[in-house]
Amino acid sequence: MRFAVVGAGFSGAVVARELANAGHSSTVFDSRDHVAGNCHTARHETGVMVHTYGPHIFHTQHQDVWEYINRFGEMMPYRHKVKAISKGTMYSLPVNLTTINQFFGTNFTSEQAEAFIATKGDATITSPVSFEDQGLRFVGRELYDAFFSGYTAKQWGVDPKDLPASILARLPVRFTDDDSYFNHPYQAIPKNGYTPIVEAILDHPNISLQLSTRFLKNNSAEFGEFDHVIWTGPIDAYFDYEFGRLGYRTLDFVADTSVGDYQHYPVVNYCDADVPYTRITEHKHFAPWESHDSTVVYHEYSRLCGENDTPYYPIRRVKEKEQLLSYVQRARTATGVTFMGRLGTYRYLDMDVTIHEALAASIVMLECLANNKSLPSFSIDPMA
Ligand code: FAD
Ligand code: UDP
Repeated sequence: MRFAVVGAGFSGAVVARELANAGHSSTVFDSRDHVAGNCHTARHETGVMVHTYGPHIFHTQHQDVWEYINRFGEMMPYRHKVKAISKGTMYSLPVNLTTINQFFGTNFTSEQAEAFIATKGDATITSPVSFEDQGLRFVGRELYDAFFSGYTAKQWGVDPKDLPASILARLPVRFTDDDSYFNHPYQAIPKNGYTPIVEAILDHPNISLQLSTRFLKNNSAEFGEFDHVIWTGPIDAYFDYEFGRLGYRTLDFVADTSVGDYQHYPVVNYCDADVPYTRITEHKHFAPWESHDSTVVYHEYSRLCGENDTPYYPIRRVKEKEQLLSYVQRARTATGVTFMGRLGTYRYLDMDVTIHEALAASIVMLECLANNKSLPSFSIDPMA
């Protein structure tokens, strides 16, 4: 089979590679001039490795994904720690024993802190539906207002009551000193950045790459004859926005270069609503094994994604999910195309989940091909 793979992020690269290993050829297209999608990293003129589209930390519980990524590049151990400023004071996030004691001026042990926070949480919320429910249930009003309501209003631009609980459920609450941002057993950042890893995944004689090339389904003839399209771009774009544009948040990064250490930490969140940016990232701290005199800092601002902006975070409220359902139903009747990845399924996906799903999708597709069955529109349910 001859595949057109639209998008050279992790989704497109992994699926192209798995199909290539099984003897199928792919041309991988990306409208950008580089591979790796939003995970792209590049050396700045100061020598600092910059995460061009925002900070990316690799973390996973899937051993197969961990082994997979290690085949394509050297991963350096990295424990991500985040600081958060609320009303002028710096705390550590996610909420942990140190945060609780600092915030409430207490000297609790783990057990005491857990019992104390249980009295703060709203026990009447038995199954949290909204972001706000989740916050009030698990940390209570004071911590919720200090760390989550202002930041989330800036990040998402909507009332936290209208956002799903799953967004906040990404963050743990701990009653120990552990201030790691993630729980997963494998946590790392590639020694030379993500882009060489994706280049290595795509480095196969059955794969050709066309960068700076937007693939439009209507002019696929221009790109030669393909038996099947794997679309990791936005699902609404594939259908020419027939049911309207799916809502996304986009990010603006305002970069500054200076000498020395700007904030000492890789990421500092600004939780108060009256600070216009959400966070400041200092890129050299994502590579603590390197040493640089200069520093590159991004102030990150979030806003609604316009037609010509880069889509970052899918806003999956009730309205968008109804719209998505129309696209999914339309896609299920379309032939010759499989939708994948964070844009193709309109979901917030971490890199490890992206790789995990791309590996699983490849298995499904290869089984279909072996059994002369048509390839599915999706290998997972985007509505889940
Ligand atoms: P993408 O990386 O978005 O790739 C899709 C590609 O398709 C893009 O390059 C795009 O240019 C191309 N494309 C679209 N339409 C077309 C077209 N018509 N023709 C040609 N090309 C097209 N995950 C983590 O695990 N850890 C993190 O710390 C983390 N931090 C993140 C921080 C931010 C700010 C964001 C937004 C995401 C973060 N993620 C993180 C998630 C991570 O970025 C995604 O998991 C990953 O990018 C998904 O890969 P993908 O290939 O599905 O999509
Ligand atoms: N969040 C918050 N305050 C913070 C950090 C996160 O309110 O200081 C909320 C915010 O809504 C964010 C969500 O928690 O979207 C999940 O956090 P995570 O760090 O996973 O966000 P992302 O990686 O998507 O930026």
